[in-house]
Amino acid sequence: MTEQETKKTGLLSWYFQMSLLVRITVGLVAGAIVGIALAYSPSMAPNFVSNTKFFGDVFINLLKMIVVPVIFFSLISGAASITPAQLGRVGVKTIIFYAVLVVVAISIGLLVGNIFQPGLGLGLLGAEGVQGKLAETPSISTLLLNIIPTNPIESLAKGAVLPIIFFALCFGIGLSVIRASDNEELSRAGDSLFRMVTACAESMYVVVRGIMQYAPIGVFFLIAVVFAQQGPKVIGPLAYLVGLAYLAYVLHVLIGFGGVLLLHGLNPIVFFRGADEAMISAFVTRSSNATLPISLRVSEENLGVPRTVSSFSLPLGATINMDGTSIYLAVSAMFIGYATGNPLSIDQQLTVLLTATLGAVGTAGVPGAGALMLLLVLESVGLKVETGSAVAVAYAMILGIDALMDMGRTCLNVTGDIVAAVVVSKHEKVLDTSKWA
Ligand code: ASP
Repeated sequence: MTEQETKKTGLLSWYFQMSLLVRITVGLVAGAIVGIALAYSPSMAPNFVSNTKFFGDVFINLLKMIVVPVIFFSLISGAASITPAQLGRVGVKTIIFYAVLVVVAISIGLLVGNIFQPGLGLGLLGAEGVQGKLAETPSISTLLLNIIPTNPIESLAKGAVLPIIFFALCFGIGLSVIRASDNEELSRAGDSLFRMVTACAESMYVVVRGIMQYAPIGVFFLIAVVFAQQGPKVIGPLAYLVGLAYLAYVLHVLIGFGGVLLLHGLNPIVFFRGADEAMISAFVTRSSNATLPISLRVSEENLGVPRTVSSFSLPLGATINMDGTSIYLAVSAMFIGYATGNPLSIDQQLTVLLTATLGAVGTAGVPGAGALMLLLVLESVGLKVETGSAVAVAYAMILGIDALMDMGRTCLNVTGDIVAAVVVSKHEKVLDTSKWA
C-alpha cells in the first residue's frame, strides 16, 4: 500500500479529513450535551469530572506551552521590521481603539441592566460566612513600573506578558537599528538574527497548527466538565442574569464589533469566519492568554493582519483589552444592586463606567480573573462585600456561575483584540485585503 492509500484508509483518516471548524463545533455541541445530561445525574457528574478533566487540561497546557515563545519571537520579528515611529503610531491607535470600544461595551451592559433589571425583587438578606476574596489594588505607578522587567529572563519564565512585550519591543527596535547600520558586518549579522527569529516565530505557528488538531477533543472535555459542574446552579434569577449577560455580549458583537468593521469597509462575515477558531478556543479555555497563539495565527493567516501589527497589539490586548469582562462587570454590578435592594443610581452607574474600564484593564487574561475585579467595582459604588452582608451573598451567587459568564466574556475579549488588530492595520494601510475579497 502506498503512503497515500494508508492515509486515506487509516483509522483516523475521517477525523483529519473533516474541516477543523466542523470538528471543533461538533466537540463543542457534543460536550455541552454530555455535560448537561451529566449535570442531572449528581452521582455520575463528579466521577466524570475527575476522570476526564485531564483531556481538557492537555489542550490548555499545550496552548500555555506555546504562549511565551510565540509572543517573544513574533514581537521581536515584528518590531524589527518597522520603524519605531510606525510602532508608536500603531500603539497609540490601538489604545484609542480599546478605550472607545470598552466604553461602548460598558454602556451596552448598563443599558441591558437598566431595561431588564436582573435580580429585582430577589430581596437578598445577609448570611453568615459568605465573603469574597479581596482584590488587591496596586497603584498606577506600581503597575507602570512593573511593565519594565528588572530581569527579562524571569519575566519569560513566569510568563508575565506586559514585561515580555516591553523587552521584546526593545530587542526588536535594537535589532532594526543594527540591520540598518552602516557597518556592513553588523548589518549582515542583524539580518541573520532577524531571519532566525522569524524562522522561530514561523516554527511556533506550525506547532500551533499541530495543537489545533487536538482542539476538538480538548474542547469536548472542557465544555462537558463546565456544564456538568455548573449546569444545576443556573436556576431562576441566575439563569436570567446569565441570559442577560449573553444578550449584552451579542449586542456588543453586533453593534460594537460589527459597527466598527462596517465603518471601516470590512465585511463582518469574513471577519467572524476568519476569527472563529480563536473565538471558540477563548470560549472553552476561558483564557485570553492561552488563546493568544491561536489569535496571532488566525489574524495573520485568515485576516491578513501583518505581523508588525498583530505581534504587538494582540499580546497587549490579551492583557489590557477586555470588552467582555467590562460588560460582565456592569451587568453583575446592576444585578447585585437590584438583588440587595440598592438599585444603582445614575451617578453610581457613571462610577461603574469608570471603574469597570479600569477593572477590565487590570484583569489578567486567565480564567475567573474578572470576578476579582467585580469586588473593586462594587466597592466603588459603596456595595462592600463584607462577611455576612447581603452583597456578599449576591456576590457568592455570581461566583457560583462564574465559569459560564467567563466563557462568553473571554470570547468577546479575544474577538475585540482581533477586531482592533484588523482595524488598526486597515488604518495603517497594511491589511492584506486579498483575504477579505
Ligand atoms: N477569563 C477572562 C480572559 O481571560 C478574564 C476574566 O475573567 O474576565 O480574558
